Amino acid sequence: MQIAKEVLQIAAILHANKYKAYLVGGCLRDLLTDVPPKDWDIATDALPEQVHLLFPDSVYENSFGTVGVKTESMDPTCKIIEVTTFRTEGSYSDKRRPDEVKFVKTIEEDLARRDFTVNAMAVDLTHNLELITNNEGERFQLLVMSHKLLVDPFGGQHDLVEGMLRAVGDAGERFREDALRLMRAVRFHAQLGFKIEKETMEALKAEAKLLEHIAAERIRDELTKMIMTKRAGEGIEIMRTTGLLKFVLPELLDGVGCEQNQHHIYDVYEHNLKSLEYSATKGHSLAVRLAALLHDVGKPATRVWKDTATGKKVRAGKKGDWTFYSHQVVGAKMAAKMLTRLHFSNEIIDQVSMLVYEHMFVYDPEIVTLAGVRRLLARVGAENIDDLVRVREADRIGSGVPKAQPYRLRYLLAMIEKVKTDPISAKMLAINGEDLMKELKIPAGRLIGQIIAVLLEEVLGDPTLNTKEILLKRAADLAKLSNDELEPLKAKAKERAAAAQNSIDEEIKKRYFVK
Ligand code: ATP
Ligand code: MG
Repeated sequence: MQIAKEVLQIAAILHANKYKAYLVGGCLRDLLTDVPPKDWDIATDALPEQVHLLFPDSVYENSFGTVGVKTESMDPTCKIIEVTTFRTEGSYSDKRRPDEVKFVKTIEEDLARRDFTVNAMAVDLTHNLELITNNEGERFQLLVMSHKLLVDPFGGQHDLVEGMLRAVGDAGERFREDALRLMRAVRFHAQLGFKIEKETMEALKAEAKLLEHIAAERIRDELTKMIMTKRAGEGIEIMRTTGLLKFVLPELLDGVGCEQNQHHIYDVYEHNLKSLEYSATKGHSLAVRLAALLHDVGKPATRVWKDTATGKKVRAGKKGDWTFYSHQVVGAKMAAKMLTRLHFSNEIIDQVSMLVYEHMFVYDPEIVTLAGVRRLLARVGAENIDDLVRVREADRIGSGVPKAQPYRLRYLLAMIEKVKTDPISAKMLAINGEDLMKELKIPAGRLIGQIIAVLLEEVLGDPTLNTKEILLKRAADLAKLSNDELEPLKAKAKERAAAAQNSIDEEIKKRYFVK
């Protein structure tokens, strides 16, 4: 692993102008562990204005000393290199930004403000620039060690080798200065797979409640980074054991000890966690991971003990089992509320709550019909079907069932392929409102919408009806009806769609008793 040449060029320019330049932060941590860096950070004693002057193609639009230097690189990790003036920071009384940033003279003072020892190291890029630039083949770590290039006042290198996350200085004090570091600890624990050192862990537990005051979007960003790691499940679990989860996603805690029916070996919390874990190992998107984590969040609120034979609610202690009717509906609402609270984008909120809402979709080959698949596709959107299947797969694996039932899911996917070209929305009908106006002289207005709704429902049930000729004929008949006759027909069409879905649901309930 080598330092990007754009970084070395910037260091050389700083050096030629008698400034210092150090490689710092995540990129150094990555290089020392043979991981390709995602971005590059340089620390310097040049003031932001001076950096900006040296690199005209740069942006300086904050008051925290960071100048983004643009490069010509095609590599996305090198397009902008962040050059930050050595600084310390005051406390974060608004929990968003430090109250004051004070520029300082030495790298040691700068490193002392950083959160964890593995993040508080630096490599001098000016003193040894030639050595580093001409390095060919020698492992970065060896080069740095054999030439003593590392500035490491807090034992970061030792902790990096040990796989240990340790706060710089007094852990409690560091968390009290900026409580976001609580979330960062969890994020690095998951991202790096490091153990959390004992005192740091104790401080995490003691100071967890401070998270209450942290701006939602800062928490969201660290949570997102954590969820996007392979060890997302471990991350959520350590949030629970340290008490942080209560301040971020407390609804998940209602699932702890919430026992499920005979088909489940895990309680609701653990099941949600295992689903996320599977999704994370599969490299799924943020929306899918969040949906996997939240898919059963509505279960504790909807849990009812019922008689297995009659399906009637009975008192606890009587023979029966747990049911969770409509948990996906309740869960989708809860998920939206939770993600809104954390200031996730509307796009993520809509996608996740839709996935939670639809995660119970039927794919039993003996029950599912083409019309049912068409309705599913119409509700979910063809572009989201793969994600929905991913969530369901995570659900199955997360329940401790060894296989994601590939045969059954594949059968559904085949049916989806089959109906993808079928009409599933009014847009795909062989006629549109304009045709009705032109060919049948129906005036623009409510009638058009009513007719289209009835036609769509009929076509969803039988796609062979979707020809211009048949639909125009049917529309002409419908147009003859009065509003009073048409309105119930439209309602009936809706009802029929719901009934078709219900009969499937009923069948499922009968078969498995609970779901
Ligand atoms: P990544 O590889 O994910 O970018 P990173 O360590 O670079 O990890 P950043 O959030 O980019 O994480 O922060 C860069 C560096 O700035 C950190 O390594 C750390 O030294 C310092 N830092 C960032 N946020 C804080 C904070 N809240 N408190 C103290 N130091 C921080
Ligand atoms: Mg970084």
